[in-house]
Amino acid sequence: MNPFTYSRASDQQTAINGVAAHEHAKYLGGGTNLIDLMKMGVEHPEQLVDINRLDLTKVEQLPGNGGVRIGALVRNSDLAEHNLIKTNYPVLSEALLSGASPQLRNLATTGGNLLQRTRCYYFYDPAFPMCNKRDPGSGCGALEGYNRIHAILGQSDKCIAVHPSDMCVAMAALEAVVRVQGPNGERTIRLADFHRLPGETPQVETNLQPNELITAVDLPALPFAKRSHYLKVRDRASYAFALVSVAAILEMDGGRIKSARVALGGVAHKPWRAHKAEQALGGKEPNDASFRAAAEAELANAHGYKYNSFKIELTKRAITQALRTVAGMG
Ligand code: SF4
Repeated sequence: MNPFTYSRASDQQTAINGVAAHEHAKYLGGGTNLIDLMKMGVEHPEQLVDINRLDLTKVEQLPGNGGVRIGALVRNSDLAEHNLIKTNYPVLSEALLSGASPQLRNLATTGGNLLQRTRCYYFYDPAFPMCNKRDPGSGCGALEGYNRIHAILGQSDKCIAVHPSDMCVAMAALEAVVRVQGPNGERTIRLADFHRLPGETPQVETNLQPNELITAVDLPALPFAKRSHYLKVRDRASYAFALVSVAAILEMDGGRIKSARVALGGVAHKPWRAHKAEQALGGKEPNDASFRAAAEAELANAHGYKYNSFKIELTKRAITQALRTVAGMG
């Protein structure tokens, strides 16, 4: 690990100033990903600004619209078990509880979860020379390498990595909004616009500006989100990243689907909102045929590689099963 300096901020402005004062500084929350990356020699911050004493630890109902504001330092365990989340947004509680291990969830924060970096093997191993994300311009080792966990949607020839978060997939379906504070004041970013596809610059993973601090995530009031589910398909029953995951929400009108929200994890460089599937579901009866047709529509342009083509059919089946569960079909 490279040498670095450490400071502890007691308020947001001190934290922002502390990071802005160094060219290579990072905020330190739970550290469950950042410290690993520093130990592996992937991240080399010269300064860490500890934000754990900032007052960003509340989950509170928003006045007026009935939505919920989640402080950036709310731990994943606390968020998953919070009554407002379990009752109104079960898809988010389920997603959080499917992630990592209890020990990690006790430490990992909401803001840090948004900033998780990919678990691509080649990214994590600096001994491997080819990784455009770690070393821009060096190539992508996964393209012709062992790419079992990699993307099937939205990838580029510069990077085929996937975003590893479960929480963010549920938040994408819920149309969350990220609140950030920076040197130029406060602004909001739709979760759909927060993470980026790799394109030509896979090293740029979010649309955060330099030195901006995530302060909260807002969930809109969404009464029909009580009918929701998160399905995660993985190699082990716990402590494993998703091969494929699905966050599904259905709004019913009589015997038909009025609207659907579907987001996918483990398939793209960002949480993947399945708009084509959602459009295909509108007005349909909830049955296997309509669910499968929605899955086929979403995956029509999917592209697999030597070791991960199985994910295309797996994703179709996962979408169908998640929707079956939300519709009460088992
Ligand atoms: Fe690096 Fe992305 Fe290629 Fe993985 S998929 S080796 S992270 S460029």
